[in-house]
Amino acid sequence: MDYNLEQFASDNYSGICPEALEYMLQANQGSAPAYGNDIWTQRAADGFRELFEIDCEVFFVFNGTAANSLSLAALCQSYHSVICHENAHIETSECGAPEFASNGSKLRLAKGENGKLTIESIEALLLGKRADIHYPKRKVISLTQTTELGTLYSLDELAAIQDLAQKHDLKIHMDGARFANSVVALNKSPAEISWKSGVDVLCFCGTKNGMAMGEAIIFFNKELAEDFAYRCKQAGQLASKMRFISAPWLGLLETGAWLKNARHANQSAEYLENELLKIESLEIMFPREANAVYVKLSDKVATSLRAKGWLFYSFLGVGGVRLMCSWNTTKERIDELIRDIKEALI
Ligand SMILES: *Cc1c(COP(=O)(O)O)cnc(C)c1O
Repeated sequence: MDYNLEQFASDNYSGICPEALEYMLQANQGSAPAYGNDIWTQRAADGFRELFEIDCEVFFVFNGTAANSLSLAALCQSYHSVICHENAHIETSECGAPEFASNGSKLRLAKGENGKLTIESIEALLLGKRADIHYPKRKVISLTQTTELGTLYSLDELAAIQDLAQKHDLKIHMDGARFANSVVALNKSPAEISWKSGVDVLCFCGTKNGMAMGEAIIFFNKELAEDFAYRCKQAGQLASKMRFISAPWLGLLETGAWLKNARHANQSAEYLENELLKIESLEIMFPREANAVYVKLSDKVATSLRAKGWLFYSFLGVGGVRLMCSWNTTKERIDELIRDIKEALI
């Protein structure tokens, strides 16, 4: 198996993009103050304030599980609850970290087509169970943008959820593992689809956008960030050489690579989807709106592809596989994959 070839299993299979690497190398000249007291971290945080057109509190951590669980813990007490989609990463893929970090805040799972919470699904939870002292008090709605199924909340959908959150005095957390992809796909400003849509805290993923590692946690509601640095430190998420997370972020922001990378990933997925649609017997499972394509493949086809060295996830348990494009996806590899799928179908 040749691991130098690009794969479609996840956008975190990709390497480091040139812009992120270039800034990392620049930050590697000489020494710098530790624990985020360096110029790179300062500049990257300012870069986010500029990008989001608002004075916000910015923290850098190693990965998304930490970003989600620590930020949720900042919004919740142990006796609170978080409403999220049943497919949400915080529920399915974080090993209970949100509950652990918050000392027990309860995740409440809502259904919804195409990986999205709906007003009805949220209301069903708000109205359905007892809302008295005997049940965890609802506190947060957690949205993933783009969703785990590769779909998008539109501006209207975000506005409706914002209204509902206001009505019930709920905070909004956004898992932005693919926030950049949603900015591109929706063609809206980062501000419009975050704080202007009522998001209190955003976990903005750098890893899947082209960094080696690193997430930015952005508190638009600055009061919620009180003592957050201590929470990060206690959780082992305060990088002493923080400049190697923040400098690549600065590289993505200053050069515009964050958008370029996301656009490339989305366009690659669009091409991949179109090529798959030309194969009559295949079925695309969810609307392809950003950089993920979900397609139904039989076990026989999946096995044949794996035997040829293709790596992909089929964790949904519905007979489908997820094909994810990233900043380094090439048309040649997509064409090769399509060729191998066609061969396997014969
Ligand atoms: C990848 C991902 C994360 C972050 O995962 P880590 O492996 O902890 O970095 C968070 N949310 C979603 C939806 C993701 O796809």
